[in-house]
Amino acid sequence: MVILTRWRGQSLTISTKPNCLTLSLQSGRDTQVYSFDGEGRFWTGIVQNISYRRGLDGKIVAKWQEGNSQRERRWLSQVEAQTLQENARRFCADLLAHLQTGQVLLNPPLDETGWTFLTRAAAFTPERYRQDIDHYHAVYRPVGILPPDQYMAVVLQAAEGCSFNTCTFCNFYRDRPFRIKTPEMFREHMKAVRDFLGEGLSLRRTIFLGDANALVIPMPRLVPLMEAIHEQFDVEQLGGIYAFLDGFSAEKKTPADYARLRELGLQRVYIGMESGNDELLRFLKKPGTAEDVVQAVQAIKRGGVAVGIILLLGAGGHQFSAQHVADSIRALQAMPLDADDLIYFSELVEDEGMQYTRDAYQANLRPLTPEERIAQGEAIEQALSFSEEGGTPHISRYDIREFVY
Ligand code: SF4
Repeated sequence: MVILTRWRGQSLTISTKPNCLTLSLQSGRDTQVYSFDGEGRFWTGIVQNISYRRGLDGKIVAKWQEGNSQRERRWLSQVEAQTLQENARRFCADLLAHLQTGQVLLNPPLDETGWTFLTRAAAFTPERYRQDIDHYHAVYRPVGILPPDQYMAVVLQAAEGCSFNTCTFCNFYRDRPFRIKTPEMFREHMKAVRDFLGEGLSLRRTIFLGDANALVIPMPRLVPLMEAIHEQFDVEQLGGIYAFLDGFSAEKKTPADYARLRELGLQRVYIGMESGNDELLRFLKKPGTAEDVVQAVQAIKRGGVAVGIILLLGAGGHQFSAQHVADSIRALQAMPLDADDLIYFSELVEDEGMQYTRDAYQANLRPLTPEERIAQGEAIEQALSFSEEGGTPHISRYDIREFVY
């Protein structure tokens, strides 16, 4: 339902959906937009041409465009995030008060969902946000990373951490040992996730099985965990189950295994291949070879499950660039990819605390500029060809600096 009216001499649009409330106030060229989930949590906003997105962990990323240049981003400080949330809450509280006292009239009137969501958003005080963030941390180990098309998933941590944790460019799971939950522990975790999300669950689109490589869990343990998901979530309605598979030296699954997982709702497996060049993979201390990835993809696709292949642009600098491009093209072309699949180009993001940065310095690697990284992705993309029958996988960028859950 969309309601248009005037409020405080400006144009107000109230949009209610079964899963969210969006308020938009326009004055001349300036528009303020705030949206909230079914619990009343601030979700997204636009203020003075800067867009904001809040994760369930309370962190808010701001994005904007500088002239004609590329998109800029930064994470808000805690104080900035609190201020933005409180501005959004006051907006709701003031509007609610004016609606209740008849100072603003709506035609058609606000429906029941709209009243409920607006009342909840108006009651999401700074204290309530603090409790919500504490609740989040009681339910989840920090969610390290998700593929970009899965930021709105319900993450269920069937396992925690990464069973390899060796890759020099990845610090996502250094803070925790790898462990697989028992079905009982997993059931408790899922119940806690449901309690935490509350009506915010309706905004979520898929289920993502965490953490880094949940699909290395051997089948006799994985199947009961997947079955347990169906006890607590309507998997089909939520759009199925998605997961990472990373590192290939351990558990190898057959096409029949993937067909069984498909029956249990598995839709797509995301694989951090990083590169098709084995020498570069060794330099990155990534377990397995490009051929392992190709074989895994063949097994997954034969089982009727789609894949998302992630390549790391800029890895190995100029010294590895030619081999990285040529062998990545070769590996991708050896995979039976089609229109159901995704290819992500993820730029290497270095920081001083990273083993990769130290290794690259010692090996005298000359890093690629951001433009050269993009050109590397374009060189790979332009060399790929796919069958007309199967269609072309969707190819896009994966910027880990924008990850929010
Ligand atoms: S296997 Fe994946 S999650 Fe684990 S350390 Fe390597 S890149 Fe990170």
